[in-house]
Amino acid sequence: MTSHKKIVVCGAGGFIGGHLVADLLSRGADDIRAVDIKPLDQWFQCFHKVDNLQLDLMNKEACEEAANGASELYNLAADMGGMGFIESHKARCMLSVLINTHLLMAAHKMGLHRYFYSSSACVYASYRQNRPGAKALQEDDVYPAQPEDGYGWEKLFSERMCRHFTEDFGIPTRIARYHNVYGPHGTYNGGREKAPAAICRKVIEAKLSGKHEIEIWGDGHQTRSFMYIDDCIYGTLRIMQNNNATIPINLGSDEEVSINQLVDTVEDISGVALKRTYRLNGPKGVKCRNCDNTYIKELLGWKPSTSLRTGLEKTYQWIYDEMINM
Ligand code: NAD
Repeated sequence: MTSHKKIVVCGAGGFIGGHLVADLLSRGADDIRAVDIKPLDQWFQCFHKVDNLQLDLMNKEACEEAANGASELYNLAADMGGMGFIESHKARCMLSVLINTHLLMAAHKMGLHRYFYSSSACVYASYRQNRPGAKALQEDDVYPAQPEDGYGWEKLFSERMCRHFTEDFGIPTRIARYHNVYGPHGTYNGGREKAPAAICRKVIEAKLSGKHEIEIWGDGHQTRSFMYIDDCIYGTLRIMQNNNATIPINLGSDEEVSINQLVDTVEDISGVALKRTYRLNGPKGVKCRNCDNTYIKELLGWKPSTSLRTGLEKTYQWIYDEMINM
């Protein structure tokens, strides 16, 4: 990381981008450009040693400014959120295609050495995730395509675009399919939050108010796996640096739990037991989803391994501190 190459992180004001910049700095990277559409005072993490830029990466010229002089670029910028957001903002999610398109064009023009795209488990075909106990998702389970409507189609198209920019223009691209990432310094309220942060917030609200109730979207039996942010960042860097990581790769935990089990764990951390009500018509996504890590283990000899309990303890504490200091 001390080779003085310019590394650009797009979406650096967001959850994963902020952690990526922090990690790169801790590894000695000394020429980082961080880019986000949000004003700097709204970034989750902002570092003065970094060239911080506020740019709308839907614009071609902004992407050229972001990529100028760069050696490596991480595209973590997207207009997205949890199920509550993506189910009701399909067009906005699809417009993120402009970000990846213009960044790839800029990467081509500037002759970047490597380009990373943050894809999602939402690219996987929904018919493989519609019954309890369905097998964990492997990389080639994506076709025949039937991804999450809106957000998932954009991710799948953008993955494909990276592939063809590599084949036709020779830009080395790397793609990770993130499965539900959580941790401190991320969204926990306002409508874009994802299940782990939302459940932590609801449990804390119940604890602080003394109103010991919680509303859960769906019947609570839907299953997911959740990856702690430290594993996400480490895996992202390993995939980016790997010379053989030329196809989209799952990056997620394989500890599958139901939403009820997720709530059990947060309640246990908090020391409260809440009365649960289920909003059956709430946004809930597919019935089950788990990450098959066969390929990443083969490629890197590693897979995400932070336990849900350990990661949630840290996430809960950060959200708790944020809420009582508000
Ligand atoms: P986030 O919303 O916290 O960060 C995304 C950032 O992109 C935000 O800060 C936002 O302001 C910025 N952005 C949006 N539009 C922009 C634009 N036009 N120009 C510049 N910046 C813009 O989300 P995150 O959780 O950090 O996710 C990062 C990436 O990982 C996204 O591509 C997301 O789709 C992908 N991903 C995340 C998860 C997860 O669980 N968090 C799962 C799968 C995939």
